[in-house]
Amino acid sequence: MKRSHRIFAALILAVLIFLTGCTGGGAREERTFFGFDTVCSVSFYKGGNQSVLTRCEELLQEHEWIFDRFDEDGLIFAINNFAEPVMIDYAVADCIRIAKEYNELSGGLFDITLAPIMDMYGFGSDEPSVPDEEMLKVLLSTMTGMDKLQVDESDMLIKPFGVQMDLGAIAKGYTADRMRELLEDSKVRSAIINLGGNVVVMGDKDGEPFSVGIQYPFEADGTSIAAVLVSDASVVTSGIYQRYFEKDGKIYHHIIDPTTGRPADTDLYSATIITDSAAKADAMSTVCMLLGAEKAMELIENTAGFEAVFVTNENEVIYTSGLEGKVTVTK
Ligand code: AMP
Ligand code: MG
Repeated sequence: MKRSHRIFAALILAVLIFLTGCTGGGAREERTFFGFDTVCSVSFYKGGNQSVLTRCEELLQEHEWIFDRFDEDGLIFAINNFAEPVMIDYAVADCIRIAKEYNELSGGLFDITLAPIMDMYGFGSDEPSVPDEEMLKVLLSTMTGMDKLQVDESDMLIKPFGVQMDLGAIAKGYTADRMRELLEDSKVRSAIINLGGNVVVMGDKDGEPFSVGIQYPFEADGTSIAAVLVSDASVVTSGIYQRYFEKDGKIYHHIIDPTTGRPADTDLYSATIITDSAAKADAMSTVCMLLGAEKAMELIENTAGFEAVFVTNENEVIYTSGLEGKVTVTK
């Protein structure tokens, strides 16, 4: 989609999100902007003003410049194409450290070096295609694998030339955490940050939890399948409906199994993770998609501080025991 078309789509989407997404309603101040290829919004319920909203917008632009690997003037683009060890920005170093943690936790399924594989499919381009088996095998054996990324204590990145990072599974969550810190420093006490489905809820709404809508997979944006009550938490959704194309009646989605180079063969349409850090919720939501319903449920039930709502490929809504009484199925 052309950028102008995307902005138009974003405006329409924004209206839908306010009608059916986070049921904040009645925010004192709010602003909607376009970033990370999606609609983002910040709404204040207690504290905050227009100048804080402007700083949120600037922070979003700065992080988009860091993480957008297609921006030829951007930081990741430069790092990806650097042949020598390079000193990296603390934000990138932080994300690589978090990614390593989730790579280990998922037995290697979570992998931020899949950029060349993503490029073979051309998700989001006008002409996506299905790469052939041989090409995938060559790329997987030579260009990918998180053991190829090393960051030392002084944030120096060492990687073979050609290894390219795609931080799409973590960048929005990481940015949402930085935005929450900005709001905390600005004495905002009640707010909702929504970076394209990476939601951070600060405080509560007049003593009551906020209700955050969970997108109905493959339905119009802003249509909820469920809602979850939360205060002071990050609520991050990963879903195969967020980016995909269809060929010969088959869906090719954007969450790649690094053992095959193919879209993960998962029985989940979406995974929503609730925890204190949006970056971790973002990484964990992608991990859950890669694991599938049964293993994901077991993982989250056994991970302290994490809860989850899953939508299966039959549009069944299932959730962890800690959310009992907090989830409403709205479909
Ligand atoms: P999310 O929506 O957070 O699940 O992130 C999906 C994005 O993460 C994709 O669009 C890719 O940029 C990237 N990605 C795809 N497969 C993987 C994977 N196995 N591990 C980590 N990141 C991935
Ligand atoms: Mg993610």
